[in-house]
Amino acid sequence: MPIRHLSGPNAPYQIYISEIMSQQTQISVVLERYFTPFLKAFPTLHALACAPLERVLCLWRGLGYYARAKHLHQSAQICCQRYGGQLPQDYTALRALPGIGAYSARAILCFGFRQAVGVVDANVARVLLRLFAITPQRAKLASILQERADAFVNPLNPFDHNQALIDLGALVCTKQPQCAICPLSFACQGKDALEKFTQYKKSVSIALDLHCGLCVQKRKLYLCYATQGLYAHLYQFPLLKNQELITLPLLGSVRHSYTKYRVHAMLYQANLEDLQPQGLELVDVHALNDLPTSALSTKLWAVCQRHLKV
Ligand code: SF4
Repeated sequence: MPIRHLSGPNAPYQIYISEIMSQQTQISVVLERYFTPFLKAFPTLHALACAPLERVLCLWRGLGYYARAKHLHQSAQICCQRYGGQLPQDYTALRALPGIGAYSARAILCFGFRQAVGVVDANVARVLLRLFAITPQRAKLASILQERADAFVNPLNPFDHNQALIDLGALVCTKQPQCAICPLSFACQGKDALEKFTQYKKSVSIALDLHCGLCVQKRKLYLCYATQGLYAHLYQFPLLKNQELITLPLLGSVRHSYTKYRVHAMLYQANLEDLQPQGLELVDVHALNDLPTSALSTKLWAVCQRHLKV
């Protein structure tokens, strides 16, 4: 992967972008479609800080979880004000930046600044639990795993060490581990009692039906623009006032997942009075491709295009 060969003074920024983009999105998708155009548009932290938020959100289209893009933009501005346009090389200062959690901070320190810290993602956690025979029910499990990872890291080459552990967890020490080919097998304390040293997570999902309206007037359509909350600064298809017993013509539907929600969004031909009125704006149909829209609305827009023939 190209991000494994980044070096030079701008590498921490590039690692930062790749880590934030891949938080909720597969790294292969990030690298294929988003990473390079984003860095081309904003090659440095300073360029990102100076860009209008709307432009940053437009380049984030399709990645979803737009709070990540807003936090990146905010963090870039803080770094320009406080750290001369560079990311700080210190864990506490990195954690204080919006959107940088424990994992991302350590990934930036190790992969960007080559510091000897353990990087524990879900794959590495699985390896460590088994390798050191740690029962997952223990209190403060995250701290225990981090301490183990920090003590285990190779101080001479933390970059390769952490990348190798991530790969081992992703490819060998999986749900069905291949202990026979594992290079850590000789030292693994948990391989004969895998059940005991594996964390099983229950996935809870909530089904959500949303009924949205398409209302077009003279090549313009009504969208909802929020100024606050999860969807702040994004355009979305407006919800219908009435979310039950709908008699409007159905144009199509899409499915979308975020966090624990499995959304089934249906789009209806609607009149202005059918729409929830908050934040409504008339937008030119041809401008929509250049506006920041939520991932769900991007999917609904594809449904619209079939009907509007644009
Ligand atoms: S020996 Fe098996 S359980 Fe232990 S780290 Fe390797 S793959 Fe995982």
